[in-house]
Amino acid sequence: MQKHADFAEFTLIEPSADVSTARHGWRAKCLQRLIRLDLPVPPTVALPCDSVRAIAAGQMPDTARLMALFGAAPLVSVRPSPENPAWGGPGTVLNVGMNAERHAALARTHGTEAADALYLRFVQAFALHVARLDPDMFSAPPASGALAAALAAYEAETDEPFPQDPARQLAEVLRSMARAWEGTTARLLRAAKGAPAEAALGLVVQGMALAIGPGRSGSGTIQFVEGVTGAPQIIGRFRGQENGPRADGGISEATLFLVADPRGPALEDVAPELFGELLRHGRICRERLREEMQIEFAIEDGAIKVIDAVRVQRSSRAAVRIAVALANDGIISREDALLRVEPRALSDLLHFQVDPRVPRDRLGRGIAASPGAATGKIVFTAAAAQASAARDEPCILVRRETAPEDIRGMHASVAVLTERGGMTSHAAVIARGLGLPAIVGASELRLNGRERTLTTADGRVLREGDTLTVDGTTGEVLAGSPAMLEPALDDGFRTLLRWADNVRDIGIRANADTPDDARTARMFEAEGIGLCRTEHMFFDEDRLTVMREMIFADTGEDRRVALERLLPMQRADFIALFDIMAGLPVCIRLFDPPLHEFLPHDREGMRELAEALDRPLSEVTRRVEALTEFNPMLGMRGVRLGITVPEIYDMQTRAIFEATVEASRRGAAVVPEIMIPLVSAKREVEIVKTRTDAVAAAVRNETGADFDYRLGVMVETPRAALRAGEIAQHSAFLSFGTNDLTQMTYGLSRDDAGRFMGSYVAQGVYREDPFHMLDEDGVGELLLIGAKRGRETRPELTVSICGEHGGNPESISFCRAAGFDYVSCSPYRVPVARLAAAHFAL
Ligand code: PEP
Ligand code: MG
Repeated sequence: MQKHADFAEFTLIEPSADVSTARHGWRAKCLQRLIRLDLPVPPTVALPCDSVRAIAAGQMPDTARLMALFGAAPLVSVRPSPENPAWGGPGTVLNVGMNAERHAALARTHGTEAADALYLRFVQAFALHVARLDPDMFSAPPASGALAAALAAYEAETDEPFPQDPARQLAEVLRSMARAWEGTTARLLRAAKGAPAEAALGLVVQGMALAIGPGRSGSGTIQFVEGVTGAPQIIGRFRGQENGPRADGGISEATLFLVADPRGPALEDVAPELFGELLRHGRICRERLREEMQIEFAIEDGAIKVIDAVRVQRSSRAAVRIAVALANDGIISREDALLRVEPRALSDLLHFQVDPRVPRDRLGRGIAASPGAATGKIVFTAAAAQASAARDEPCILVRRETAPEDIRGMHASVAVLTERGGMTSHAAVIARGLGLPAIVGASELRLNGRERTLTTADGRVLREGDTLTVDGTTGEVLAGSPAMLEPALDDGFRTLLRWADNVRDIGIRANADTPDDARTARMFEAEGIGLCRTEHMFFDEDRLTVMREMIFADTGEDRRVALERLLPMQRADFIALFDIMAGLPVCIRLFDPPLHEFLPHDREGMRELAEALDRPLSEVTRRVEALTEFNPMLGMRGVRLGITVPEIYDMQTRAIFEATVEASRRGAAVVPEIMIPLVSAKREVEIVKTRTDAVAAAVRNETGADFDYRLGVMVETPRAALRAGEIAQHSAFLSFGTNDLTQMTYGLSRDDAGRFMGSYVAQGVYREDPFHMLDEDGVGELLLIGAKRGRETRPELTVSICGEHGGNPESISFCRAAGFDYVSCSPYRVPVARLAAAHFAL
């Protein structure tokens, strides 16, 4: 005899019953809400998580008493009800209670065929999910003889007849579902969806609405928005009872469309009153549950039963549109609408996306370095990319890694794929800036540069010209050209972000190097430019040559001549930026990289350079070698270059001031911000400040115009953070460059760390890639120290972050808590940052 548990066994769900998501799971709670809304929900009983746990451990409630709650000879369904719907759960089992006696009764009222079909489905489900018998033996479709065969097979396999006692059937189903939840596979699956180890399962037992009958009967689902776009639309299906061709010879109504459709009959036409009732239920759910729901319903002899309702599954773009529509209709508040959209999901809307509804042929995966998806033909060199762009053929640049000389090739490509690299490698940073989808560190793919092939782990070989799709959102490299969804910078998107701006309390600027970037920054409503990396302005063909002449200059005079040619180009760059930003702050970083980055790296390139400079190849080679450093990232770069070759900064500051005068004459007054990179000592700032002040005085003199400017320091070395107190004596602002600061704090090369980062994270050495997620414990402490010491010296000091972390919601939260004035990130991450900042302020 079964021992009955003496725990709080089960609760008939009524409006006043004590049912909670924490105790009974989301489905039980949702069903109670539907019942409170007076929707026609069949009788439903909730088993709390405690009971289900006890069942898994061998106890059992009085299932005969439970069954009796549903009347005489009932059929019931059992559904999972975990606390969070995302955690899944065992499959629903229908028609519990079906036995020979019930079958006979049903055959009399509804016909043998319908009775056979119901019984067969239950025997099959029971055999599979409860008795765990071989699926092949229990998958026959309903047909004459199938029921008898299934019953016989059950008996042969289990050595006992199919259980006839409904109470025992229910007990077995409950036990199997409770135990399935505890299984290892189920645990792993839900852990992957974020469920905690102790996640519990509730169960819901519901009287079956039979969906067969002499009158209109069947079952279906209905929802009122489209799940990918979020557009209002009635979607669903209705499957009527399968009674075969109608006596009048009309078409079978086995499946009906919901709304009028040229392809076949629709519920709206054949049963307008039922359809109208569904619409009413839908409206009630939306308004009272304050959510877009998919309703599962049955029609039993012309009467609608609402069996269940779940939140409509939705893409990111649909989530935005739905949240804004609910707020605009007054159903939820604007704050709720903001909180209902996951900030990271916004980046899906800014780019093309692989349509989630289409199958994917995956060739390999890497680090999802820049979101969005693009399809193009494979090219292996920057030159081939430019040639392809000239032919108007979209191409994907595939490189081992990229270097500054690939930038033009990247510009010409629709996406970038590299075998090596991490989140802050050159390819990743540039691609994010350009808004190009990118995958880096795709080490599963083998690139053979000489043969121009790309080989997948399973041996497929791709060649130049083959079509490839880079999904930079997921990090998946896909074969061919899957269907895409277009970007959706629609009204809903803009509205939501404007609401976000009204509540957030930290500024959001963009890292923008070119006029195009600046326009993107304005489009996404950044509040200014937080970092303009001026060196990126020197890679255009004409400038690169002058730049190289400057680098090769033998005398100060030669260098001055070359810089004089660069000056008008830089001035034009800055005028364009100031014009586009229309009075918003623009923070320009002086030249940062080591000079040799501007020089060719192979023989071919050196020969071309020798030709352009009209110098012997041997001399070019020698000079390139002389400029090569063992550790360029720790070498002659940033302010060190600025102090050693001061003419470069002189030219840049002059260009900035002349552009300031010019742009201010035409439009809003400009107060440029000039930022010194890679500072580690106060004296560096003093020297640059003295020269900058002198250039400003000269330009004021020459132009007769007055202007202000702000000089600040980029904190990228641990020493600059520690000495921020004295550095702030000469700085109007400090901006933390957390890419270099992370590199130097860890002593970890940002360009090479990708090789072992996966293994480090997998073994828990680092919780996350610190180039991706700000290391709050270490690098973060330097940020706090730097900000505190800086502000002790100068309370009005502007403090910000402009490394790649600036667009990261977690880092934004950290910077906000630390009282930073703003964060600056790639233009394409500005929307994510605006929404994330709003979330933290709510
Ligand atoms: C940084 O180091 O964080 C930074 C923003 O500069 P870059 O990435 O150009 O070195
Ligand atoms: Mg840096």
